[in-house]
Amino acid sequence: MVRLQLRSRGIAAESVLQVMSVLPRHRFVPGSARAEAYGDFPLPIGRGQTISQPYMVALMTAELGLGARAKVLEIGTGSGYQTAVLAELAREVYTVELIPTLLERARGLLDELGYRNIRYQAADGTYGWPEEAPFDAILVAAAAPAVPSTLTAQLGDNGVLVVPVGRSQAFQTLLTIRRRGARLEQHEGIGCRFVPLVSTES
Ligand code: SAH
Repeated sequence: MVRLQLRSRGIAAESVLQVMSVLPRHRFVPGSARAEAYGDFPLPIGRGQTISQPYMVALMTAELGLGARAKVLEIGTGSGYQTAVLAELAREVYTVELIPTLLERARGLLDELGYRNIRYQAADGTYGWPEEAPFDAILVAAAAPAVPSTLTAQLGDNGVLVVPVGRSQAFQTLLTIRRRGARLEQHEGIGCRFVPLVSTES
């Protein structure tokens, strides 16, 4: 997986490749999909959600440029696979998932695998985790209709937000946004396809 799907497509961050070469991705997919766990595609994890394609996990993580002291916010825990990658590279991970049953399943597995630097919240991640802001990095694993300003507000100076943005389910763009003081620098990445970031706003 690492050689054929990640390195060959230009993922150069050795720390990310190293983590993904040892992390047991098969533990994060339903039993019926175990044989396909390392395939080059997302897989269903129940409740209409998916575990992201390995390449997308690697690309988004590499974009964050995490240091060992980083405090990271993740929106959309899903299977918890991306959470584990972040927890291997950063000091602390704060993860928010809208669907409580998915969150509890991910928490159970991540506890079992020994991760002690992750905090969990079942909530609408559009609001971020204001009590714990600022963050060095924020990763959104579901497609937002526009860049959520509540999240850019929770970035520390030099902090990075990676988020798929697009109104249509068929085509979204992966955006990387870096805070420089009061300014936000935006970089457009590749086209992508994520499940929608559900809004609970009434
Ligand atoms: N990185 C995860 C991706 C899961 S798919 C993985 O690889 O397993 C995206 C997840 O975002 C889903 O679990 C979905 O329930 C969750 N989600 C959607 N809208 C959300 C919201 N507003 N707040 C928090 N989580 C949300």
